[in-house]
Amino acid sequence: MIHAQIRVSGQVQGVGFRPFVFRLAHELGLAGWVRNDNEGVEIAVEGARQQVMRLIERLQSEPPVMARVEKVTHEFADTKGDLRGFSIAASKMGKVQTGIAPDMAICPECLAELFDPADRRYRHPFINCIHCGPRYTLTARMPYDRINTSMAKFTQCAECQHEYDNPDTRRFHAQPNACPKCGPRLKLNNEQWQEIVTGDPIAATAELIRTGHIVAVKGIGGFHLVCDARNDQAVAKLRSGKQRQEKPFAVMVLNRLSASYYAQFPEHEASLLEVSERPIVLMNKSETCDAELADIAPGLSSIGLILPYTPLHYLLFHELLGKPDEKDWLQQASHLALVMTSANPGGEPLVINDMEARDSLTGLANAFLSNDREILHRCDDSILKWQDTAAAFIRRARGYTPRRIILPFSGPSVLACGAWLKNTVCLTRGNEAFVSQHIGDLDHAGARNMLDETVDHLCHILDVKPQVVAHDLHPDFYSTQFAQTYAAEHSLPIYAVQHHHAHIAAICAEHHVNEPVLGLALDGVGLGSDGSAWGGELLLVDGADFKRLGHLAPLTMPGGDRAAREPWRMASSILFDLNRNEEITKRFQTQSGTETVVGMLQRKLNCVPTTSLGRYFDAAAGLLGVNSIQGYEGQAAILLEGLATQYGYVAALTQGFTISADGILDFHALLTELVDCTDAAYGAAIFHATVAEGLTAWVLRATEQNKIIHVALGGGCFLNNILSNLLVKKLSANGLNVLTARQLPPNDGGISFGQASIALQSKNKGV
Ligand SMILES: [Zn+2]
Ligand SMILES: [Zn+2]
Repeated sequence: MIHAQIRVSGQVQGVGFRPFVFRLAHELGLAGWVRNDNEGVEIAVEGARQQVMRLIERLQSEPPVMARVEKVTHEFADTKGDLRGFSIAASKMGKVQTGIAPDMAICPECLAELFDPADRRYRHPFINCIHCGPRYTLTARMPYDRINTSMAKFTQCAECQHEYDNPDTRRFHAQPNACPKCGPRLKLNNEQWQEIVTGDPIAATAELIRTGHIVAVKGIGGFHLVCDARNDQAVAKLRSGKQRQEKPFAVMVLNRLSASYYAQFPEHEASLLEVSERPIVLMNKSETCDAELADIAPGLSSIGLILPYTPLHYLLFHELLGKPDEKDWLQQASHLALVMTSANPGGEPLVINDMEARDSLTGLANAFLSNDREILHRCDDSILKWQDTAAAFIRRARGYTPRRIILPFSGPSVLACGAWLKNTVCLTRGNEAFVSQHIGDLDHAGARNMLDETVDHLCHILDVKPQVVAHDLHPDFYSTQFAQTYAAEHSLPIYAVQHHHAHIAAICAEHHVNEPVLGLALDGVGLGSDGSAWGGELLLVDGADFKRLGHLAPLTMPGGDRAAREPWRMASSILFDLNRNEEITKRFQTQSGTETVVGMLQRKLNCVPTTSLGRYFDAAAGLLGVNSIQGYEGQAAILLEGLATQYGYVAALTQGFTISADGILDFHALLTELVDCTDAAYGAAIFHATVAEGLTAWVLRATEQNKIIHVALGGGCFLNNILSNLLVKKLSANGLNVLTARQLPPNDGGISFGQASIALQSKNKGV
């Protein structure tokens, strides 16, 4: 017989961990207690050594689905023999040290109850338990107790309260616990914002969708605009209402079998669809996809699919499928596909309450399916895609926020405010970093407000006061101004961090690499230390310091930022460099302003240089006639990638690039080759192959010269699978340790985390 004190850390509170320990202890015949405390969960047990060891093992091997066990430590002592039975002891809370869990999809047990006519929660749209349901989006502050959530106003009925108090149930301390008697209620409003009181709101919503209407549906992190994805008129109406002509929509399908009707994917991609974080997963379209879903992802080779994740989603599917009563309807294939797009008119942040919905969705939605459970924090759906051996984030939000990332060092709490596009903020506490949900592009007033709200919210739920502030070098960014004001108001030290340095630092920090790293940062644009626009950079990064070893040869952007949205302008600048400016007006005759552009290039007026790899992609797409004006950010590069994938393998052009003695990588020869290329798919393939070859040679030269073995690949361009996979393969084959973004997106969504890491290292060095 022995006594053991066990400590479990990680995401172990609010996820059913104590009842899990309680059941395990009973099963193993151990006496003792379990409780929450500042650092996680503490357990004291007494019993046969073998059984105690089994307990320690099973804490790690079979934790509850929402838990993430990071560490289990234990100490043995001689048994005092004074523990009787096993109990859940009162929490020992001082200062909050643990985080709240992210929002999770409905679990299999709740789903079974939802469709069980004998269950008291039969068809209850707000069913949840300790294994599932909303968390982050309805919590106002810590500790995570019902009183601190938007469920506070719903007093539990006797039956719910009994479950809540009883460690034997799945609803023991499940803060959002509710039933049809005591929980939130659905409400369906028509276009005039009058409540439709007759009949079942779910059936009425389904009928509206079935007849080609658009319904705004309140979910976990905000409203979605929902319509039948197979109904071309409904989709067209949504596109014109959202003023979103080409950008793809995410589509919800019932299950993996149904997904295979619209996409083709290997097993591991299907598993990603099914995780309880329930992200949108970008997958290759099936052959039948475009015939059925013509205007969902026009011109693209991939489609974003997502499975239902709230009870309401499942109820809608059930209704739209004609209320099947077979037990296995949830597993059967169905062609039913619903557009599920964030209700964020004009790129503003997601709408979360009735007032906002009424203000901004009237005229766009034909009805509003809302409810009285308040969403406290906007949280978009996350988006992931599979890259060779691992999944990469395109957008990290619902399901993942506020999961912490452990830093390789500790220090004072840093607030990092990010950059501009796809912005996030990051707050650190000791060696933990918490990156906010996707906030969006800061050119919208709504997104700026959301940044303010998010900083406030993170400080509350983590119970920290920032002691250091970090921001981008760019003085005009709202995030920079926010950081400066915040630091001034609180008298805090402040650090400006170069954009591409932050990209690379983010990757080093998540992989806990503290040695010098060669960073290849490839993205759209970021302000360089020399005041010019950077975007294709080779950096030697050593913690808080970096040196620019090289960059891509600059291209000219006629008309400045506008050239980033109009690839024909980038193509024109290449033609101009080749003394072929007479072709510009002819090639791009459908574009307005060709003569102005020629004039600008001739007189070097408003011609901004850029080293961005993104602009190289644009130039190639413009020259190959793939894309002249981008319907959305990154469209040209995405179309080019699709064509290259379709074409298949092609050898790189060995004469397609040069590397100068001072480290400048120049792809002008490659672009020249594309000027007269008549096969766009071949051109796209040769472009990818040659860019990968050139970048590899560039990196290898620098790793040899600087005796470096770690290479970090950062920046939004690494969301391009061909580029990313080729570089990882080629560089690893040369014995290098290649690091890529895994816990955060490689794009600007990861900048705040990199800034925090650099500020922390600077502060620790006393800089
Ligand atoms: Zn559940
Ligand atoms: Zn109840």
